Amino acid sequence: MADLEKFRAETRRWLSDNAPPSIKGTTLGLGEGNWGGRKATYPNPDMKAWLNVMAARGWTAPEWPAQYGGGGLSKAEAKVLRDEMAALKLPAPLVGFGLTMIGPTLLEYGTEDQKQEHLSKIIRGDIRWCQGYSEPGSGSDLASLQTRAVLQGDYYVINGQKIWTSYANYSDWMFMLVRTDPQAPKHEGITFILMDMASPGVETRPIKLISGSSPFCETFLTDVQVPAKNVVFKVNHGWTVAKALLNHERTMIASAFGSGTGRRQTIGDYARKYVDFEGERIADTTLRTRMTQYEMDALAFKLTSDRARDAAKAGLPPGSESSMFKIYGTELNQRRQELLGSIAGPQALGWEGSGFEEQELSQTRDWLRSRGNTIEGGTSEVQLNIIAKRVLGLPD
Ligand SMILES: Cc1cc2nc3c(=O)[nH]c(=O)nc-3n(C[C@H](O)[C@H](O)[C@H](O)COP(=O)(O)OP(=O)(O)OC[C@H]3O[C@@H](n4cnc5c(N)ncnc54)[C@H](O)[C@@H]3O)c2cc1C
Repeated sequence: MADLEKFRAETRRWLSDNAPPSIKGTTLGLGEGNWGGRKATYPNPDMKAWLNVMAARGWTAPEWPAQYGGGGLSKAEAKVLRDEMAALKLPAPLVGFGLTMIGPTLLEYGTEDQKQEHLSKIIRGDIRWCQGYSEPGSGSDLASLQTRAVLQGDYYVINGQKIWTSYANYSDWMFMLVRTDPQAPKHEGITFILMDMASPGVETRPIKLISGSSPFCETFLTDVQVPAKNVVFKVNHGWTVAKALLNHERTMIASAFGSGTGRRQTIGDYARKYVDFEGERIADTTLRTRMTQYEMDALAFKLTSDRARDAAKAGLPPGSESSMFKIYGTELNQRRQELLGSIAGPQALGWEGSGFEEQELSQTRDWLRSRGNTIEGGTSEVQLNIIAKRVLGLPD
């Protein structure tokens, strides 16, 4: 305990000395922050400096083993680091699918060479990763995927199409699922493989949404050669790896969207700005009740997620129960967005124009973005199926 207090004091001092002053108090909105990679841009150069100092210490991945460049911190030390960063209002130095999805999966299933090659690049933010799972005919029924990989010498030759590949056009590498045995039952002919997006034959086409933004792409693969050594775990056993990664993904989505921490505005801030008060209380009793209920549910969710995260950091990777966090966290976030809309009224429905503040325009976009929460990483219906089968043990 004394050691932990010493670690806390040292950490606080180090953070104060090394965090560039301009980043203190930076609140990252959803999807914002340092995603790293070869194509990264840094509107605030101090955010890049922040990434560099934290990465040099391994604190972009505090609990990953030091031998791969991680912080090598214990669960308790990592919690101290998170607490001290929160106390100083410091943003995450790095975000992305490397840290939250493929990194933890490689730690569990990768070969030593794969860990050596990829983990330190993730930690330093050198390489940005995307996820090549979904295909035009294979979303919820992911195991029906058709992208074909044929072994030729030391390479797999890959042909097919992925869709909804988030940020593929900004990414350097993709972790993907391919079919290596078309004769086998559908779950047993799939392989998990790592592909350099700069390989000849890879084409990304951003999908433009009605909002004007393009958060995801179609990814076309034509005779792409991928070294056979990039197979993770075993050929035709990719479904095992795919499920493990989805558990990490669902845990990440639940914690990113569900807890409401690190958001631009709290519900209370919103209310103070837009609604009438009677003394210290919000005048509208229905709204007051909804807000109280939401705050209680969000706190209970945060505490339960923290408990699960502690269990995960104790060496247990997340299991099928991650589906419960995913469904609850994402639906909680949708409730939050609806509530913010009720509080701000028409001001939460602006798209452009001088009648709205920047934060109000962001709020409209966050509300619309939240609709995707219950689809990405597997829909709510699919999570209910998993909970029924794998958590409750109900028959198929
Ligand atoms: C914001 C966002 C980001 C994404 N990013 C990525 C990414 O980076 N990489 C990637 O590979 N994919 C990504 N996806 C795709 C996502 O994984 C799929 O959209 C999702 O798995 C659902 O597949 P689908 O869209 O084909 O819908 P479908 O599978 O066609 O489902 C349509 C509807 O039918 C329901 N349904 C289907 N099967 C069942 C069933 N057995 N029981 C009950 N109901 C069922 C679904 O719940 C849904 O309501 C992203 C999606 C979103 C929204």
